[in-house]
Amino acid sequence: MKVLVVNCGSSSLKYQVLEMGGSGLLAKGIVERIGIPGSFLKHEKVGDDKMVLEVEMKNHKDAIAHVLEALLNEDHGVLTSLDELGAVGHRVVHGGEKYASSVLITEDVVQVLEECSDLAPLHNPPNILGIKACQELMPTTPMVGVFDTAFHQTVPKEAYLYAIPYEYYEKYQVRKYGFHGTSHKYVAERAAAMMGKAFNEVKVITCHLGNGASCAAVKNGVCIDTSMGFTPLDGLVMGTRSGAIDPAVIIYIAEKEGITADQVINILNKKSGVLGISGVSSDFRDLGQAAEEGVERAVLALAVYALRVKTYIGSYIAEMNGADALVFTAGVGENDIAMRELICKDLDALGIKIDKEKNNIRGEETILSADDSKIKILLVPTNEELMIARDTVEIVEAL
Ligand code: ADP
Repeated sequence: MKVLVVNCGSSSLKYQVLEMGGSGLLAKGIVERIGIPGSFLKHEKVGDDKMVLEVEMKNHKDAIAHVLEALLNEDHGVLTSLDELGAVGHRVVHGGEKYASSVLITEDVVQVLEECSDLAPLHNPPNILGIKACQELMPTTPMVGVFDTAFHQTVPKEAYLYAIPYEYYEKYQVRKYGFHGTSHKYVAERAAAMMGKAFNEVKVITCHLGNGASCAAVKNGVCIDTSMGFTPLDGLVMGTRSGAIDPAVIIYIAEKEGITADQVINILNKKSGVLGISGVSSDFRDLGQAAEEGVERAVLALAVYALRVKTYIGSYIAEMNGADALVFTAGVGENDIAMRELICKDLDALGIKIDKEKNNIRGEETILSADDSKIKILLVPTNEELMIARDTVEIVEAL
């Protein structure tokens, strides 16, 4: 079955077409600047040159229409008719407490997602726009929603509940949700396979270190804790996000600077993290370079980042009473050799020993730990689109 996977942001849209049970990835692309002057589509058929189309795309429906045209294009396309698409899989950020697994999208589901928009105001509305645009253009094609939060729905109550008056959980569903679930699940499953063990028999700590970053503790095939919280702001230090901080800081800064709490939260989301500390960049390539050149605050930012990851690794070993594997994935996890080394430094007391030679690698599924490391350190490139396509096929084939 050919599946279109759609990941819709507020002004961008990423897509892939995969032939499941066949040749795998057929084409992929991205639309940027939707609704902003200068919008364009970059499309790539596997094994072919990239095609760039600069055309005004006023909204998500325009964007999807151009994506479908590119997929049908005589030279660069991979479909002769839209009927060849068996289904569309949509990445949806927030499924609230309602969805612990992927679902066939119906009108009721769209309504629930709209209700969840309150919980993810930046993410769910564009996801819904993408779904509606696809439904209008492909009214008979089944659509499936795959949630970033779903894999974390097994996290037990003592790990997801905040120690605040219980009524806020009951009235407003204030709790930890966790994100990047599709990625954590994919790399944890791969880790089990790489160790030749069953997924439900291993304890895995997954570190998804990208622009956004989160860790998860996956025990016997289910997630038991994760570092992002009610929103993606919690947990690890990220490119531009602070990660966990004392909430009293928000009001203190707001008062000192004469700004609102909302504005402080915006600063914690967009101007903090390694960018905020270093004043250099949120990109780890720039930071690595600056650190090499001796820029002190770049060195400091990387140290703060690594230390936070370490503390989560330690706490997840405690929560799971041990671990079989520690997995690095996403942009930083897959490519930043120095950062992986810094995170794993001096963790031998916990059974984690990285092999510097083996660690000298980027973007390939491989083992990074020394032979005598009790916990295996693994590099697993993430593949959220493949997971979305798999879930989509499974649901559509069962119809
Ligand atoms: P997202 O999908 O959340 O946008 P990615 O997982 O693609 O993010 O990660 C992007 C980040 O990966 C970049 O900001 C950059 O810091 C980091 N990155 C990518 N390549 C490298 C590299 N070669 N060395 C160090 N960091 C890298």
